[in-house]
Amino acid sequence: MGKEEVRRVSLLHSLQFKYALTYMAVIGLVLLLLNTYPILASQDLVFQSKQASLQNRAAVLSSSLGVSDTLTPEGVSQAMEVLGDSSLTRVLVTDSAGLILYDSEGEESLYHYALFSELYGALSGLDVFHSQYQGETLSSCAATPITYRNLTLGAVYLWEVDTEQGALLLNLRTTLMNISIVVCVLVVLCSVFFSKALSRRIGDLFHAIAIVREGEYSHRVELVGKDELSLLADEFNDLTHRLQVTEEARRRFVSDASHELKTPLASIRLLTDSILQSPEIDSETTREFVADIGGEADRLTRISEKLLTLTRLDAHMEQARSPVAMSPVVEKVARMLAPLTRAGEVSLRLELDPDCVVFATRDDLSQIAFNLMENAVKYNRPGGEVRVITTHNREKAVFMVKDTGIGIPQEDQGKIFDRFYRVDKARSRAAGGTGLGLSIVMDTVQQNRGEITVRSEVEKGTVFIVSFPLCKEVGE
Ligand code: ADP
Repeated sequence: MGKEEVRRVSLLHSLQFKYALTYMAVIGLVLLLLNTYPILASQDLVFQSKQASLQNRAAVLSSSLGVSDTLTPEGVSQAMEVLGDSSLTRVLVTDSAGLILYDSEGEESLYHYALFSELYGALSGLDVFHSQYQGETLSSCAATPITYRNLTLGAVYLWEVDTEQGALLLNLRTTLMNISIVVCVLVVLCSVFFSKALSRRIGDLFHAIAIVREGEYSHRVELVGKDELSLLADEFNDLTHRLQVTEEARRRFVSDASHELKTPLASIRLLTDSILQSPEIDSETTREFVADIGGEADRLTRISEKLLTLTRLDAHMEQARSPVAMSPVVEKVARMLAPLTRAGEVSLRLELDPDCVVFATRDDLSQIAFNLMENAVKYNRPGGEVRVITTHNREKAVFMVKDTGIGIPQEDQGKIFDRFYRVDKARSRAAGGTGLGLSIVMDTVQQNRGEITVRSEVEKGTVFIVSFPLCKEVGE
């Protein structure tokens, strides 16, 4: 371990950076809203309550002053002594021309014209209010006309500078600002922490991938949590497990195959050496040896043919399938096996159903029938019997090979479909077996959406049952 190289991304392109940036952008937006909306809303509330209170007070003054058809400074002063409101910063009362009749700030301004735009609004009959927030103070003014029987006698102008509300608003702003700063710091810390945690977990995955890439298929990654990354890690582990299984099977296959090929080659070598190193060898023995060499060469040919078939099956090459009737295929295989059945003194009985049609290729069916029937004859006894039955029901086409042969022990029945597996190596070799026939049968059956089962009893016999989805069309 250690030499595996993990591919890296630059910080700017990293997920960690993007994640932290997004996190901060979202929080930044939230903080911006937090610092504007509540302040604007509370300012608005303060303005509204200030407007209501000032306009009320102006209305009270205006209705107290509008009791006769004239306004005099004395009359106004007297009324203001009673109604005066010390909380106001300035109170002005003017006549209808804007001439000041009362000023709470002193008498210097009396009989001067008041130059407040709000007053002119009030003199033209409107209730005017204006408020603004400056620094820590809230400055508000309200003006309202004084009327007597629909006649505008003058106007009242109230001005108030409120430091209390201003301070409250400022306080709110400062509090929000402080909260924002604390949140900002927390967010930066959290986003750095979380994005680091995220990128560390991604890094673990990357590291594991790099290790597996170097061929260490037993390596597993362990991520805590139940999020998508953990799921990804589980998927990765499953994938690695599959790779490991496939790799082990491939290694076993290569070593088994080379072992199988080595044996006949060693025999050939031995036989040729025997001929070459014995100058006085007679022609009869030479003939025997050469015949043995031919036998070994045949075995090599058989093994390589079967290996090629398995490679083709492993590649899952799509083949042109069509409805094929089982009976002619079985009959042809039986003809091919006639010399073997004669030599083994085995009788072969065919019980064939002409409507047993399978959607497959003729070669595949022939491969399955040949291997199963050949085994039934090979692993039989003189005088034994092999029954080959084809039949069908509503959904399935069934192909059965029953023999009265040596049987397969229970513990071997699960392994006979493995490549190069033989129950009795010596007997299989003697019978010209390669240990590949049943694995070819299994792969071919599965590629044609079929199933295969085996039932066997030692010394009594074996039955292989292959079933395929029934093809309703008429076979070739
Ligand atoms: P082989 O080329 O050795 O026949 P197969 O893959 O066809 O290889 O079969 C695997 C093993 O299963 C055989 O070696 C044999 O021991 C056992 N076997 C297969 N068919 C039968 C059968 N009908 N009766 C008894 N044993 C069988």
